[in-house]
Amino acid sequence: MIDVRKAEAQAAQWDISLRDWMELHTHVFGNVDAFGDSDIDDASAEEWRGRVSDVLIEHKLFSKAKRYMECSRYAHLYQCKGDGKHDLFSPIYCDLRFCPRCAPRQFARLLRKYEPVLKAVSAHKKVGFRIREITLTSRNTGNLTPAQIKKFNQDIKKALKSLMSGVEGWGAILCDEVGFENTNLHAHILFYGPYIPQSRLAEVWNEISGHEVVYISEAHKSGGKALLYMLKYVSKPPASDPNLIGLLEVAFHGTRRVHALGTFYNFVSEDSDNVNSEWGNCPHCGAELTKLPGSTRIQKAIIEGRTFVGTKSTARRKTWAN
Ligand SMILES: [Zn+2]
Ligand SMILES: [Zn+2]
Repeated sequence: MIDVRKAEAQAAQWDISLRDWMELHTHVFGNVDAFGDSDIDDASAEEWRGRVSDVLIEHKLFSKAKRYMECSRYAHLYQCKGDGKHDLFSPIYCDLRFCPRCAPRQFARLLRKYEPVLKAVSAHKKVGFRIREITLTSRNTGNLTPAQIKKFNQDIKKALKSLMSGVEGWGAILCDEVGFENTNLHAHILFYGPYIPQSRLAEVWNEISGHEVVYISEAHKSGGKALLYMLKYVSKPPASDPNLIGLLEVAFHGTRRVHALGTFYNFVSEDSDNVNSEWGNCPHCGAELTKLPGSTRIQKAIIEGRTFVGTKSTARRKTWAN
């Protein structure tokens, strides 16, 4: 199980990003149990993956199904422009939200994106404002659709805006979650602002969304730790049932799970997804890289003696991940 703070320290020592550290870790130690609580073993992983893909195909998400099935099996080939002409490979990932192999990298990415928000909070503290943890729930309808998730997120925005009307400087990061092995959609929210009584929160949430259950408390952990804790939800598969994972992937298609609201929106850092891997140059000689045409099985690339250079093209992820 990954200890994120230790991982960050090691990544800093090696002079690579946390995302690249996650990527290495996934390759060295296999995938599935990055954050614990997973009961999928490697032997049945491919069959499990196939069953998730079947659900995606049933819902006409053909290219996602193919990518999910082929995640981490193939690699793009690179060669360096140095005198040694070193041969390298870069794995092709699916980058889907509920892929056990891709989740640790997505976690690292989200952390980098949202951490500056909390740094901004500690730099400009407001009197009477605290970091609070809010959970807003919805009634379990037994299924989950993109429209339902979008409405849920809009209702959260409306509820917080209504509660904070006239208040300057409040902010929130929300993260959608579904219950383990069920479709019970709820949101974990890190909220920075003045005291809100639980009863007032419940009243406004009910008025706007029709749902009832809410929790609010002062954050037990520091802002940074609370964020780590919250983003771990994004990084853990919420179920081991491949059918449910497939349905979640369909439900969240085209919808983000993590959102920043209020002033927090202004502090969100650039999505590191737009930036290529820090393995930008040849690890042997530092020369620039040329992409070669085609792709090959990762095992073949390894047998050929090629060197791993991590994710190279990440721009497309922005449209659907997180
Ligand atoms: Zn993947
Ligand atoms: Zn080289």
